[in-house]
Amino acid sequence: MKIKANNANSPIWKEVYSHSKLPQQLEPLYEMATNLWWVWNHEGAKLFRKLDEKLWQTTEGNPVLLLQKLPYKRIEEILADKAIIAEMEKVYADFKAYVNVKPDTTKPSVAYFSMEYGLTNVLKIYSGGLGVLAGDYLKEASDCNIDLCAVGFLYRYGYFTQSLSMDGQQIANYEAQNFNTLPLTQVMQSNGEPMLLEVPYPGRTVYAHIWKVSVGRIPLYLMDTDIPQNSEWDRSITHQLYGGDWENRMKQEYLLGIGGIMMLNKLGIKKQIYHCNEGHAALINAQRLVDYIQKDGLTFNQALEVVRASALYTVHTPVPAGHDYFDEGLFGRYMGEFPGKLGISWQEFIDMGRENPGSNEKFSMSVFALNTCQEANGVSWLHGKVSQKMFAPVWKGYFPDELHVGYVTNGVHMPTWAATEMKKFYAEKFDKKFFSDQSNKKYWEAIQNVPDEEIWEIRKTLKNKLIDYIKEQYKGNWLKNQGDPSKVMSILEKINPNALMIGFGRRFATYKRAHLLFTDLDRLAKIVNNEQYPIQFVFTGKAHPADGGGQGLIKHIVEISRRPEFLGKIIFLENYDMRLARRLISGVDVWLNTPTRPLEASGTSGEKAEMNGVLNFSVLDGWWYEGYREGAGWALTDKRTYENQQYQDQLDAATIYHILETEIIPTYYAKNSKGYSPDWIQYIKNSISKIAPDYTMKRMLDDYENRFYSKLATRSAHLQENNYAMAKEIAAWKEEVAEHWDSFQVESFTCDQDLLLNGPVIGQNYTFNLVIDRHELRGMLGVDMVITKEDPEKHTLELVSVESFKLMKEEGSKLFFSLTSTPTEAGNLNLGFRVYPVNKELPHRQDFAYVRWLQQ
Ligand SMILES: *Cc1c(COP(=O)(O)O)cnc(C)c1O
Repeated sequence: MKIKANNANSPIWKEVYSHSKLPQQLEPLYEMATNLWWVWNHEGAKLFRKLDEKLWQTTEGNPVLLLQKLPYKRIEEILADKAIIAEMEKVYADFKAYVNVKPDTTKPSVAYFSMEYGLTNVLKIYSGGLGVLAGDYLKEASDCNIDLCAVGFLYRYGYFTQSLSMDGQQIANYEAQNFNTLPLTQVMQSNGEPMLLEVPYPGRTVYAHIWKVSVGRIPLYLMDTDIPQNSEWDRSITHQLYGGDWENRMKQEYLLGIGGIMMLNKLGIKKQIYHCNEGHAALINAQRLVDYIQKDGLTFNQALEVVRASALYTVHTPVPAGHDYFDEGLFGRYMGEFPGKLGISWQEFIDMGRENPGSNEKFSMSVFALNTCQEANGVSWLHGKVSQKMFAPVWKGYFPDELHVGYVTNGVHMPTWAATEMKKFYAEKFDKKFFSDQSNKKYWEAIQNVPDEEIWEIRKTLKNKLIDYIKEQYKGNWLKNQGDPSKVMSILEKINPNALMIGFGRRFATYKRAHLLFTDLDRLAKIVNNEQYPIQFVFTGKAHPADGGGQGLIKHIVEISRRPEFLGKIIFLENYDMRLARRLISGVDVWLNTPTRPLEASGTSGEKAEMNGVLNFSVLDGWWYEGYREGAGWALTDKRTYENQQYQDQLDAATIYHILETEIIPTYYAKNSKGYSPDWIQYIKNSISKIAPDYTMKRMLDDYENRFYSKLATRSAHLQENNYAMAKEIAAWKEEVAEHWDSFQVESFTCDQDLLLNGPVIGQNYTFNLVIDRHELRGMLGVDMVITKEDPEKHTLELVSVESFKLMKEEGSKLFFSLTSTPTEAGNLNLGFRVYPVNKELPHRQDFAYVRWLQQ
């Protein structure tokens, strides 16, 4: 036999993950690392940092990875270090005391659904405000002991990390996450194998692993389809957040809704309230309907009563274009089997997602959410109003102001966003009950009695921390990709802790108008180069990889920041994430926000700034429309002067320069002999006492409970009692009304002749008498007189008033109504009369929006 020169097949590797095993004595560390409690309880984070300061830095504050990488020698040192062991035991005792508290059963239980969660920079399953809000919500639900569980995705690549090329072009990097190094645990079956969720997709099953993130006392369950049981095509469902095409988005929203409910079923979890954070998760209600029909034997109409009564939809987008729509073909490919399971036709099903049933509109996730959730809300007072207008086409018989769409203004989780120094300061200066009763203004008012020097000291400390962070984190990167090292060093040297520092950080969506400050570069150069009153701007933010406009804006700002006159005065920091956000919103003096009104539904980063004594300078939009107080920050007016956006931008820019030059800079630099400005400190005190308490997550959670959860829990329990008796009764009544709606007729309708001849005279009484014969219709009816007038600019009808007729008597099928009205408004008015079905069991008119306008 001929001997070959060599003979080896290619190597066969099996991936294994090598890591340190902690000795038993240190196991509490691992238990604490896999619960995000340390994210907002600084003694937890401090302990991990002490274990290995350098590893804490290189792991970007990921305690699981830190423990896995802990060198053996260091473990031995720790075991021998009595102080660290004692500290560990103390922190562990606090941790256990916290997590062992059982949920408060007197409050409604909630299942919460969201595409993203911003809990810590370590878990890259968020992109921006929506996610951070959801993350903050879970933390507060934990602190308040709510019986809540949450559902989302564990993304393999998450959202991208941002770097910049030499010429300021954004580079998006998607890095695969190794789930074994993250603070989460996999959900296992009793046989020790990973639990496998099976979700029926058209023509195949999609499988998902389930991971659990413990957010203090709250479990967050994440689905992961990147597993070998799936085809490549399905593995990618949970690869990226807001990536891929419309089909991938359809597959994701199918998984979040249908898969999300199936997962909770598999885990044996049932809650009183189902809360959709944004329309992405609305298909939960399709699966819930199927479950009630298949398991409890309800009809579609009965199941819909039960599902609606227990569902809340929170909208975060102020314009229709921002919502998700699927074309009928694509939607049908995924949802085609649902009408069969629901016992309705395809047409009826897809019409649940259309403003105009029977049209060929795309299927709108928000319209479906509105049709399957009893309650809906926007995320600030102003956004609530905007949402009423946006959703008005869904309920054609009613005007925007009459809709049940409400609002809860967003807030932020104070223990997450207040810097550690700030929390210590509050603990020292405020009442003991402050942390558990944060939305109570009484405690915050104590800031007014704190000596100015102490406030100035803490502001200086936080600013220096930010500057150190910038120097540490960015030097290496900048030297690598900005070429000229002397330029980089000069930027770093120029950062001046004594200068007024203004921050701007957010997604680079065009409506946020990051360019506004750069409208008049000569004027800006004069402002930043005033040697007596130095000022510097720090910008940061990511643009979605498909948003060319946003990326162009970043490039533009980076280019400006490199001009000699702006070097070190305007600084762009790449890769805005929660870690940078925390430093930035606590370290600057002023937080700037310049959105196009009313496109900022709420905004939350300015609220984070509030928790740290950082002052806001913002357009009166979103939360700031409610939050602004004179002497506690600065506002750009909410009035729109120009239709033309470019003119409006120029005007707004000029106003920004003016307020900077005449108010903000002079106030900041009105320094006394001790080196600070008492006027500035007074602004800080006002902002902390008058604004901050209203924008905590505690206040927001309380609002959700008081405005929506309690109401839903009470009504849905009522509907479900005695084998769904009330749900069945309401469904039967609605069916009856729907069937005979066209049968009622007006038998007579009279009003004072005088009114018809001469028009109403202000202050005079007029009486209307109406007799309706219901014929076959058995249910009760109500009648409104509606007065509108035309808006001369928009040519739309605006509601002036609604008055209800009184039912005088009922004779057989006949109803006798009467109304006496006294006009108070002069001018050209329109009178209309509408009839609607009445049932005291309905939560609001839009629950059954049958309306007939009468001929006059
Ligand atoms: C808070 C936060 C946001 C949201 O900021 P807005 O004020 O709503 O624009 C976005 N990204 C990160 C990293 C945040 O921490």
